Amino acid sequence: MKISEILKKKSTISFEVFPPKNKNGDISSIYRTIEKLSALSPDFISVTYGAGGSTKGRTIEIASMIKHQYDMEAVAHLSCISSKKEDILWECEKLKEESIDNILALRGDYPEGSDGFDTKDLDFRYASELNEFIGENFPGQFCLSGACYPETHQEADGFQNDLLALKKKVDAGAEYLVSQIFFDNDYFYRLVREARKIGIQVPILAGIMPITNAKSLIRMTRMCGCSIPYQLSTMIEAHYDNPAVMQEIGINYAAWQMIDLITNGVDGIHIYTMNRPEIAESIFKNIPNALKEFRSND
Ligand code: FAD
Repeated sequence: MKISEILKKKSTISFEVFPPKNKNGDISSIYRTIEKLSALSPDFISVTYGAGGSTKGRTIEIASMIKHQYDMEAVAHLSCISSKKEDILWECEKLKEESIDNILALRGDYPEGSDGFDTKDLDFRYASELNEFIGENFPGQFCLSGACYPETHQEADGFQNDLLALKKKVDAGAEYLVSQIFFDNDYFYRLVREARKIGIQVPILAGIMPITNAKSLIRMTRMCGCSIPYQLSTMIEAHYDNPAVMQEIGINYAAWQMIDLITNGVDGIHIYTMNRPEIAESIFKNIPNALKEFRSND
């Protein structure tokens, strides 16, 4: 089923997982992750895409498992910056064969250490070009979606230009958007408000990442460029060397962010699980009634 059809009827709760990295290519740990996440009845689970390295090609395999073995809706991420048109056609054919209806169409980051990365002869420069290409070659086959950035994409020339680029992505076929992580909900509300002003009407799902240790928080904020509110930074500074307290902070902060988003009428919440279902479980245990109310909002 297409996620756009689900979003027409209700607000969604969904999860992101990634293909586990393992020297011998063993991804069996993902079974346990998916099994546990399925108990939380998400509306869908998305699977990230690595353009290179050991996990290349595992996205479709895992998305197919989610759909056929666990009977849940799956979204396959697909990035294009390092791909040729024939690669994308091949991936889409494979997704079609596996009856995967949903693609999160991304540009992807430039390959690591790519100072000399030649951007002149690329088949795809932006996610919007990927959306267009898939739409033209597989009309009506997939529900396409795109990424959005509450605190502006790092390469963008300011918030307004990023927003205009987002509009192009939606005009090119993205039927809903999933946000980059953020810890200050006001950035998300600004994005939604300004997006609506320029005619972006598609659902915008809030990406929430429970931070459970200081190291990964620093890595994520560097990677994504998101800011840490003063109150949260104070808590982290005081407890960064106590993993148990850090975990409590992460779970409770994410739960608080979710209640605030629900109160403000968010279209959907997408939890970056980092393949740690127990964290998602704890959040769900913290706010069972708010989630029940949110999910019954059909
Ligand atoms: P785009 O939408 O193409 O934007 C990239 C930059 O170009 C932005 O600065 C934008 O403002 C600008 N731009 C866009 N269109 C135009 C235009 N027409 N003219 C001028 N400027 C333009 N990465 C992975 O490798 N694998 C994943 O699975 C993955 N999953 C993700 C999931 C989510 C929800 C998010 C938020 C990010 C994910 N990423 C993933 C990271 C993503 O690939 C990077 O953030 C990447 O740098 C940008 O991808 P994009 O699709 O947003 O690019």
